[in-house]
Amino acid sequence: MRLIDHFITGGSGAAPGSYSGRTSDVYNPSTGQVQAKLALGDAALLEKVVATAKEVQPAWAATNPQKRARVMFKFKELIEANMDDLALMLSNEHGKVIDDAKGDVQRGLEVIEYCCGIPQVLKGEYTQGAGPGIDVYSMRQPLGIGAGITPFNFPAMIPMWMFGMAIAVGNAFILKPSERDPSVPNRLAELFLEAGAPEGLLQVIHGDKEMVDAILDHPDIAAVSFVGSSDIAHYVYKRGVAAGKRVQAMGGAKNHGIIMPDADLDQAVNDLMGAAYGSAGERCMALPVVVPVGEDTAERLKAKLLPAIDALRPGIATDPDAHYGPVVTKQHKEKVEAWIQKGVDEGAELVVDGRNFKLQGYEEGFFIGPSLFDHVTTDMESYKEEIFGPVLQMVRAKDFEEALTLPSQHQYGNGVAIFTRNGHAAREFASRVNVGMVGINVPIPVPVSYHSFGGWKRSAFGDTNQYGTEGLKFWTKVKTVTQRWPDGGGDGSNAFVIPTMG
Ligand code: NAD
Repeated sequence: MRLIDHFITGGSGAAPGSYSGRTSDVYNPSTGQVQAKLALGDAALLEKVVATAKEVQPAWAATNPQKRARVMFKFKELIEANMDDLALMLSNEHGKVIDDAKGDVQRGLEVIEYCCGIPQVLKGEYTQGAGPGIDVYSMRQPLGIGAGITPFNFPAMIPMWMFGMAIAVGNAFILKPSERDPSVPNRLAELFLEAGAPEGLLQVIHGDKEMVDAILDHPDIAAVSFVGSSDIAHYVYKRGVAAGKRVQAMGGAKNHGIIMPDADLDQAVNDLMGAAYGSAGERCMALPVVVPVGEDTAERLKAKLLPAIDALRPGIATDPDAHYGPVVTKQHKEKVEAWIQKGVDEGAELVVDGRNFKLQGYEEGFFIGPSLFDHVTTDMESYKEEIFGPVLQMVRAKDFEEALTLPSQHQYGNGVAIFTRNGHAAREFASRVNVGMVGINVPIPVPVSYHSFGGWKRSAFGDTNQYGTEGLKFWTKVKTVTQRWPDGGGDGSNAFVIPTMG
């Protein structure tokens, strides 16, 4: 059986024997078979990796930003050249279809493109003449060593969100990706080295809770960026902050799509198919809840949803006609199916049941057909919690105010979308909704790389978002210098009174 190792100094295979000896299974979700074993690291491995990072980081921070950007330019070129291989590798462990896997790589690459402009982004602030003969300037300096802990559902994009920004501003980075699909993170680190990054600047270590705890407790790791489910995000946030670190921890989601009576229903249904069922619903910016406003809208929407769902084809990643692939593991398939049963038990109407779907030739694969619930209500557990599968829940709202209240009062607040032709309603919605990212006739409003990504409420702990100027803030600390070059005459001020620049 193939062993997937850590990517540390010297590349893959440099760490045999230095990990805990424990392994976990990496599946091919389409066949349901174990395709590799993953080496799981421990605190001893982390010590070694941190020591390397400490060694290389100061010289990298002292390298001028233009030269650091050149590594990013070369890395971008290498990713583009390797796009097909990366997408195939990603699909093989995650299960998402090839074009969607390319999107995963592409959305990470866009953050790398932003990092190519890091000399411009990093420019500080300067005030000439803040007081008599006094100038003030501020600069952003790297934190030292940063770490990223990432989820299975975007094994290319989310690692690049983190290490792109962290490294471009001068930090060394340690990535602990999901155990489910570890190969793409390793390959990205390999390409980064090929792009000219110093060895040891980006290291990938694999592991589970044991490794995460070691990272959170390590005194030499200054900041931790986490993306995953909310309970773990909260735990990571608390433990990391208690250890004196800077922590941003993004969590789960339950995004709502509001359908106003004047919406273009054909467009909305088309968007909903991709947003609810694409990637088997395993996206934190999926739209698993649809909220038609008014009974008439609900009936018209349902009439269009049913044939669209009927036309959906789950399939293997390399099938060009497949709309989405299997879910990531057997446990996850069972969990999603248990949520469907829970919805039924709670009294929601299961209009389309995706359980018991079998793909011919791939009977052991972790496939789930599309499901649709109607008459879902806010007291149901299956509404309150994240299902993270190909399940769309319809919650009928009587009017705009009720539709606005639903996502606003939900425990999660990652993304939300409104479909309407009414500019006033859209503007009102965007301004009042209690959610971090809003789409107006855009179903998956993941902000472009020069804005920033982050949800509200239980979808994010900590106050700084991912990438863009927020990412810059997270991965740097501000130093402000107040300088005076005396002319020798003194300024006659009373040194015992706090300087006021008056
Ligand atoms: P997960 O929480 O199971 O795992 C995320 C990371 O935490 C992994 O690296 C994993 O090894 C580690 N981990 C798992 N259990 C742990 C424990 N007990 N203690 C410490 N660390 C632990 O999440 P997942 O299943 O890989 O990803 C799906 C979740 O991520 C969904 O909830 C989804 O909404 C969320 N997500 C959120 C965003 C966002 O930006 N808000 C983006 C993508 C995914």
